[in-house]
Amino acid sequence: MKYRIASIKGDGIGPEIVTQAQKVLNSVGEKYGHEFEFVELLMGGCSIDVNGVPLTEETIETAKSCDAVLMGSIGGDTRTSPWYKLEPSKRPEAGLLGIRKALKLFANLRPAYLYPELKEACPLKEEVAAKGFDMMMMRELTGGLYFGERYTKEIDGVMTAVDTLTYNENEIRRIAIKAFDIAMKRRKKVTLVDKANVLDSSRLWRKVTEEVAADYPEVEFLVMLVDNCAMQLVKDPAQFDVVLTENMFGDILSDEASMITGSIGMLPSASLNETKFGLYEPSGGSAPDIAGKNIANPIATILSAAMMLRYSFDLDREADAIEEAVKKVLREGYRTIDIAKSGEPQVKCDEMGDLIAERI
Ligand code: NAD
Repeated sequence: MKYRIASIKGDGIGPEIVTQAQKVLNSVGEKYGHEFEFVELLMGGCSIDVNGVPLTEETIETAKSCDAVLMGSIGGDTRTSPWYKLEPSKRPEAGLLGIRKALKLFANLRPAYLYPELKEACPLKEEVAAKGFDMMMMRELTGGLYFGERYTKEIDGVMTAVDTLTYNENEIRRIAIKAFDIAMKRRKKVTLVDKANVLDSSRLWRKVTEEVAADYPEVEFLVMLVDNCAMQLVKDPAQFDVVLTENMFGDILSDEASMITGSIGMLPSASLNETKFGLYEPSGGSAPDIAGKNIANPIATILSAAMMLRYSFDLDREADAIEEAVKKVLREGYRTIDIAKSGEPQVKCDEMGDLIAERI
């Protein structure tokens, strides 16, 4: 089968890490008989340099015409780069917000997995880390408090700020269905995280998600209050499979879940819309401090490519092959600078790409 992938390498380490993911995808293509065509597109700082804006209509339209988007990262050093002298709507990050909106990406997926070989980087107690964990944080991306009506004004002589949190049942149902579909590809357990003891919006999340759960009798459905979830993530993260939650709770909890894995260079992510289309990118930024040195860890981007195969193309066997190859190189002791312990030998970004591609 042939797949067209929009490739947005972006800024900083973006080109280095996406090139490694493309290398691994080509190796998957050779082994399993697929063809991956990469359509290179500009976005972020590199687009400002060429087009004067961080995102063009042409980039949006071409991305839409592809089967999925693979992205590196965008942005530069926010203190020194001339991109940050521009008004906020012309800066690199505006490109990312713009493309998420144009592609209607409403479900953000961030797996948090503890590799046994990297257990020492996990900040949790040894007995907790020893059990390992493998969860999928699923955050609603386009509704809730961050998109509600807001204002600050003087009311009866007192400055007052208002933010509103709104969800409708359709916004909840479409992501709940995705969460249960994804659970079916995993350990078949969904935990809805909310604040239903206080918030009306959370009570609607529970009602609609319960209705969706009824269509998935094989999937265990649990609910948990967000304050408890924040504690359980550090006390017993092994209990979670798919964690489904609204925008702001997800913003906070997905960073907490990332932190307990111990390494930013290992964390992939996906943002999906109502179809199979998605944008896949590492959770980290453009790391301007190490850009151009060929030392960045490409694993998060390579694992993002694996997510693309699994969730956009339904190529589960091929996605497994990438994830197994990553585990293998770690077991064999290969480390990039960010995950090496002091004194341990380090491989470069392109060497890590080669090692993983060879093990497909
Ligand atoms: P960052 O994630 O780029 O870097 C934080 C630290 O992690 C740095 O020390 C960096 O060297 C390290 N790091 C990140 N990815 C790594 C990798 N793959 N391998 C090894 N080390 C890695 O965060 P920041 O410094 O706060 O932001 C830098 C730029 O990235 C900013 O312009 C910011 O706006 C942008 N950013 C972009 C995205 C995105 O494209 N989605 C996300 C976050 C930040």
